[in-house]
Amino acid sequence: MLILLRSDSSQADLDRVIQRVSDLGYRPLPIPGHQRSAVAVLGNDGRVDPSRLLALPGVEDVIHLSKPYRMVAREWRPEPTVVRLPGGLSVGGEELLVIAGPCSVESEEQIRQTALAVRAAGAAALRAGAFKPRTSPYAFQGLGHEGLRLLEAVRRETGLLLVTEAMDEEGLEAVAEVADVVQIGARNMQNFALLKRAGRAGKPILLKRGISASITDLLMSAEYVLAEGNPSVILCERGIRGVDSSARTLMDLSAIPAVKDISHLPIIADPSHGTGRRALVRPMARAAVGAGADGLLVEVHVRPDEALSDGVQSLYPEQFELLMLEARRIAEVIGRRVAMPVAAVA
Ligand code: PEP
Ligand code: MN
Repeated sequence: MLILLRSDSSQADLDRVIQRVSDLGYRPLPIPGHQRSAVAVLGNDGRVDPSRLLALPGVEDVIHLSKPYRMVAREWRPEPTVVRLPGGLSVGGEELLVIAGPCSVESEEQIRQTALAVRAAGAAALRAGAFKPRTSPYAFQGLGHEGLRLLEAVRRETGLLLVTEAMDEEGLEAVAEVADVVQIGARNMQNFALLKRAGRAGKPILLKRGISASITDLLMSAEYVLAEGNPSVILCERGIRGVDSSARTLMDLSAIPAVKDISHLPIIADPSHGTGRRALVRPMARAAVGAGADGLLVEVHVRPDEALSDGVQSLYPEQFELLMLEARRIAEVIGRRVAMPVAAVA
């Protein structure tokens, strides 16, 4: 339950509401806002009588939160969350953040060349996994800590922000030390222990939708991170299990406006895992920008045919350049712009 105060309510009105909620045996959580304040009623077992609250001076409305999630809901926070990142970059505001790079860090030369290529095309952040969740235990599992060191070196040289995945609780701290944004992958979207740790990581979290997860499931997982004290969550649509085998996954574009309707959190789109086929990546990137995505996550490799993971969906640098040109033009049509990369700090 959420108690909305009128915009002209006083501090005394707010204090009275807080007192009344406590007197009723529930926990009040004040939520300051630009326009007006609100007080959430925690521990509400459905028996709170709204008339006891509506009658108080300064109270405009009492809203029953109909959804299972609270803090991620627009009812909780009407203004969009803008996740602030180093270098003045952000996700969820006017600017779109394009995060590009290989699926995995494979070698110093591979990650450096790819990073330089995506930066030249205008990406502001580099993606690449050092710890890789692979379907097969015999597939390349990533370079681990050595991969993180290589990523750090590339950031120093290029100024690109780093987005990289944490696969388990033990590894999260090391990843969070290096990453500007910690990715929680589709397979771990409902690893609740990991989500709780992510809530204490002190870094923004990129939470990818599970392959069979509903939008409610995704938002409930984000709720874990917020409930643990980390408000900086970026959601990511990356395709779900479909019925057609022409693409590896079914990119659920309508999830983008659907999430925006019910949540204040930013959402970006991953047309690479969202389709699993290189030829489909650019068209779906264009569509995602048009649908209101707050950014893109795109797999790019200097030599996709030699990639140790996800080569079939990785773009050649020239294709990524085109994608960037198109993304900029579409963003402009809808009154947004693509963020420029920041300078390296030498
Ligand atoms: C990835 O980003 O490389 C990845 C493994 O993504 P997902 O978790 O969406 O499969
Ligand atoms: Mn991948």
